[in-house]
Amino acid sequence: MNPGTYTVAVRALCEFGARQGDLDLRFTPSPSAQEGIEGHGKVTAKREVGYQREVRLEGDYQELHVKGRADGYDPERQQIEEIKTYRGEVSAIPANHTQLHWAQARVYAHLQCQQLALSEIHVALIYFNVDTQKETQLVEIETARSLSVFFSALCETFLAWAKQELAHRKERDLAYKQMAFPHPTFRTGQRELSEAIYKASNRGCALLAQAPTGIGKTIGSLFPMLKASAEHQIDKIFFLAAKTSGRQLALHAIETLQGNLPPRSLRSLELVAKTNACEFPDNACHGDSCPLAKGFYDRLPEARTAALQVPSLDQQQLRSVALAHQVCPYYLSTEMAKWCDVIVGDYNYYFDLNAMLYGLTVSNGWKTGLLVDEAHNLVARARAMYSAQLSERQFRAVRKQAPGVLKKSFDRLQRLWNQLEKNAESDYVVHATLPEKFCMALLTLCADMGSYCADHPTLVSPELQQFYFDALLFNRLCESFDDHSIVDVTLAGGDAILCIRNIVPAPFLKARFAATHTSTLFSATLSPWNYYADLLGMPDSTAWIDVDSPFSPEQLSVNLIDTISTRYADRRNSLMPIVALMAAQYQETPGNYLAFFSSFEYMDQVAGVFQERFPEIAVWTQTRRMDEEARRNFLANFTDASQGIGFAVLGGAFAEGIDLPGTRLIGAFIATLGLPQINPVNEQIRQRMQQLFGTGYDYTYLYPGIQKVVQAAGRVIRTTSDRGVIYLIDDRFGQQQIRRLLPAWWKLSDQSA
Ligand code: SF4
Repeated sequence: MNPGTYTVAVRALCEFGARQGDLDLRFTPSPSAQEGIEGHGKVTAKREVGYQREVRLEGDYQELHVKGRADGYDPERQQIEEIKTYRGEVSAIPANHTQLHWAQARVYAHLQCQQLALSEIHVALIYFNVDTQKETQLVEIETARSLSVFFSALCETFLAWAKQELAHRKERDLAYKQMAFPHPTFRTGQRELSEAIYKASNRGCALLAQAPTGIGKTIGSLFPMLKASAEHQIDKIFFLAAKTSGRQLALHAIETLQGNLPPRSLRSLELVAKTNACEFPDNACHGDSCPLAKGFYDRLPEARTAALQVPSLDQQQLRSVALAHQVCPYYLSTEMAKWCDVIVGDYNYYFDLNAMLYGLTVSNGWKTGLLVDEAHNLVARARAMYSAQLSERQFRAVRKQAPGVLKKSFDRLQRLWNQLEKNAESDYVVHATLPEKFCMALLTLCADMGSYCADHPTLVSPELQQFYFDALLFNRLCESFDDHSIVDVTLAGGDAILCIRNIVPAPFLKARFAATHTSTLFSATLSPWNYYADLLGMPDSTAWIDVDSPFSPEQLSVNLIDTISTRYADRRNSLMPIVALMAAQYQETPGNYLAFFSSFEYMDQVAGVFQERFPEIAVWTQTRRMDEEARRNFLANFTDASQGIGFAVLGGAFAEGIDLPGTRLIGAFIATLGLPQINPVNEQIRQRMQQLFGTGYDYTYLYPGIQKVVQAAGRVIRTTSDRGVIYLIDDRFGQQQIRRLLPAWWKLSDQSA
């Protein structure tokens, strides 16, 4: 790109300049992406020979370079076509959506006139109903001159903004190039990580970085990515975290970096869930219901300009700008995602089925740098994003109150559901393929519900709406069903749950990584790397780095207790030896400890015996379903001056993501290998992993288990001055294949209890 030229996609240009009035996200069930593609295909398939599809067009206006792809062009009729799919009535499409569609059609028409030197053109806006297959053509005849006037006016509304964007970009890149590391020195391992991230960007590849706690990964990843963005013309950096705490660390690191940069040269944005950002949770997102949606697009330009003056748009800052301009904070944040340099948010903003940041990346052709924090969580999170389930009990309840017009399709699905139940030979059944008749009936029901919801938006009950959304997701996953997922039926408590269960998210995530210029996934536990690369769909060119720990083996005494078995059958016999071991360690070095177990049941048994035998030692116990406050209270027991043992469950709220430096935590007892339970679902996963990768047991049980053990053990040493002890309690910890999965810097000593 010419540095003095600003490239903008047709859609983005129109969204900027041609939207007015209310935000209107009234319940309009839009077609899925697949239905949209099919709808476009059906419309263009009916056109005459010679019809041109997906016509690439571009043109310039002063510093602006505008480009995009028109849906179709009919040379015979000299007609440019913009095709939109919808459900319900054409007349129900909100006016500001239609305005936007016309603007896009006219811009393409102008670009086509320029390209073919036409003096006049037919501009067609075509609405295709995916349910009735009805095509509605709205056609106007425009002169090249009037289109040119329209295009110029639209570009003018954007030009001043584009100029400030160009100026910002120039200033920002210069500032990043000159920016010094914000601390006097890099910590051990931090430079290594930073260099690897920069090099990955230089090569335009992905990186899996196993980097231990305590090296300053957040700033150590953002700093090189900013440098790289200046050198490698990266448009946006996405920093994605699994939890709120990770987002907070990133925002804090960004503030530190901003301290080293000219004001406003680094624009950052925090994305939070709509439910957390919404000011009127009982209202709907349209002008008749929510005052912040009323006239949203009329007030957006000023709100947008004001927001740009705030360098760190965290949730609070963004909210105050939004409220000062009476616009919805959530939708202002989605707008600001287009104009900020670093965006901090949850994984789902880039990875899930309808991910906003991914959508913007593709539609705007952004060059992006992706940073994924605590990336060991991504496997489980992505599996959940690409799984869906339907409950027969919920379906039955919705069917009872469904409107008469839907009765036939509801009844048909109920019959097929009964059949699924009847044919189930046990409480858990895996189907080799999708139950075809059921899926077809669900598809029909969805189409009928879609039309009903579009025609009667005010009569749709929340239950029907919820079932409709669940069914739509299920349908979408049916479309992409393959050996990356299984389909199963679970019968429990009078309910039958039909589930599409994703096991390998790689096929879904592949395109997400491919769309970035560079991606780095980092975590203290990312080994073995092939497990993550295989399951997440990392590109073949992905680099791998295992960053040295800043901690010395002398800081941590790691004891393997291979005389105790924590297997289910041996648990009763393990209670006394574990209690004795814990008490002995505590009596030798009193202080704060955490003890981890495979289940609440096991934890309660050990805690019960411990309290009975050693009532003088303080014990804090994790309970099921602790809320945020209860968790805070649990952690508040661990002070610099306190002494006691916290009993917790491995893989739970206290086994990762908590920071108890110094004497707040001096040791951990891990009385489990962390292996996921052997149950019918996990056994199915094991078989599929075996079939796909030849590593059924390791990918299903061993690696996820040991990853949890290492995460939990990682709570003990948080700084270079910490000292601590870990007890790994189970005879299997002595096995070579398990020992080699433990961090290289640990010095293991075998002990008998
Ligand atoms: S404030 Fe809430 S209800 Fe209003 S537009 Fe925003 S998200 Fe929708």
